Amino acid sequence: MAGWANYPVIKANVYEPQNAAELSALVREQEQLIARGNGKSYGDASLAPVMVSTLSLSNILDFDAENGIITCESGVLLSNLLRLMIPAGWFFPVTPGIKAITVGGTIASDVHGKNHPVAGCFSNHLMSLTLVTADGNVLTCSRTENPDLFWQTCGGMGWTGVILSASFQLMRIKSTQMWQKTVRASDLSGLFRAFEAHQDWPYAAAWVDCTHARRRGAVYFARHMETQDGPLVFEEKKSKNIPFFAPSWFLNPLSIRAHNYFYNRKSVDGERAVDLDHYFYPLDALQNWNRFYGRRGLVQYQFCLPEAKAEEGMHKMLEIIEKSGETPFLSVLKRHGERPPEAIHSFPIKGYSLALDFPRTAGMPALVKQLDECLLRYEGKIYLTKDALSRPEMGRVNPATFGEQKFCSLLKTRIAH
Ligand SMILES: Cc1cc2nc3c(=O)[nH]c(=O)nc-3n(C[C@H](O)[C@H](O)[C@H](O)COP(=O)(O)OP(=O)(O)OC[C@H]3O[C@@H](n4cnc5c(N)ncnc54)[C@H](O)[C@@H]3O)c2cc1C
Repeated sequence: MAGWANYPVIKANVYEPQNAAELSALVREQEQLIARGNGKSYGDASLAPVMVSTLSLSNILDFDAENGIITCESGVLLSNLLRLMIPAGWFFPVTPGIKAITVGGTIASDVHGKNHPVAGCFSNHLMSLTLVTADGNVLTCSRTENPDLFWQTCGGMGWTGVILSASFQLMRIKSTQMWQKTVRASDLSGLFRAFEAHQDWPYAAAWVDCTHARRRGAVYFARHMETQDGPLVFEEKKSKNIPFFAPSWFLNPLSIRAHNYFYNRKSVDGERAVDLDHYFYPLDALQNWNRFYGRRGLVQYQFCLPEAKAEEGMHKMLEIIEKSGETPFLSVLKRHGERPPEAIHSFPIKGYSLALDFPRTAGMPALVKQLDECLLRYEGKIYLTKDALSRPEMGRVNPATFGEQKFCSLLKTRIAH
């Protein structure tokens, strides 16, 4: 078993309960286990000797199409919910850049989207959840009922129990089209200026060419369009599949530079309509794109820096990467806003985050160590759902504050020591 990064790879017993009673019995029986959604976290967050897959807990329990409230089991994929909600004029107020993830995984990582400054994380819109705790009992948690457990579970990486179901609020949309504005920048500072100048656009994410000396890039801003002729239909792009692992030399500094060169030429300043699937889920167009990295896998390093130090810190982090000789293939910059004080485990802090995908070479552990040290100096933090190599304190989530030792992943063990 592995996460999306194909590193680490472990042998595990994987159970797949078919209903709540089987899940409760399993939790009672096992000494230690961790929940597994659709395995799209990058590192070791969903890995353990005993894993419980929630994929068969996939019933949609209620859809209040009038008020935009969904109640479903935790193994339901966001893609299945999109097919239901979009024709009824609803959309997720917060969505990550992938739709093949489960509702349980969405809550356990408390995911963010391209609109964090205005919409926060998924937990901002989560009304309640039910949780199978260590004794196998099911507890309802919300802002008013077991509130501590509710907030521990949002971004709690599965360490409080197994989420069985959840209810959350959707957002009204009137069109399946987005109005997108592309702003290119010749360097990293230009990207920061573009984010600052376009704060009235609810969605924003930038591609950064980290192989370029000045780190040029482009910010893609967007807003939902307000009208549409005809019914709302969720047009999913037909995805192409990468059928096998590429040889490990496939992504190398030269091929990454070439890719970035052509990608940069393709992005053009200006405004145009794009469909929702294209704007929010561009990577879903290529199934199993992680195989480009070969069997050795990849390492994603996603970090967030506080606003006042973000630009300087980002330059420093990128200098370290340049000196190391490692080359990130994909780099995405986002702006983040405040978070509710209760959302103690959510990844974003007010500032900027950068996600970097590296081929997993022998030099990566040493590079991550250096990046962690620099990040600590700038009071930044990493995203635990992407992590496989960082120092314990980097996620700023202390495993010791989770009472339950029963729910334990390799990530939890690693950062506890
Ligand atoms: C291409 C790509 C793009 C992404 N973009 C974003 C993004 O824009 N923003 C963002 O925030 N994230 C993003 N992610 C990360 C992804 O959203 C999270 O890792 C998410 O948690 C994966 O969900 P999953 O169902 O695959 O869960 P898994 O990977 O199986 O598990 C992730 C964590 O959730 C826990 N978990 C899963 N189900 C349950 C449950 N029922 N009860 C308790 N705990 C549970 C697991 O124990 C584990 O700790 C991206 C990932 C990919 C591959």
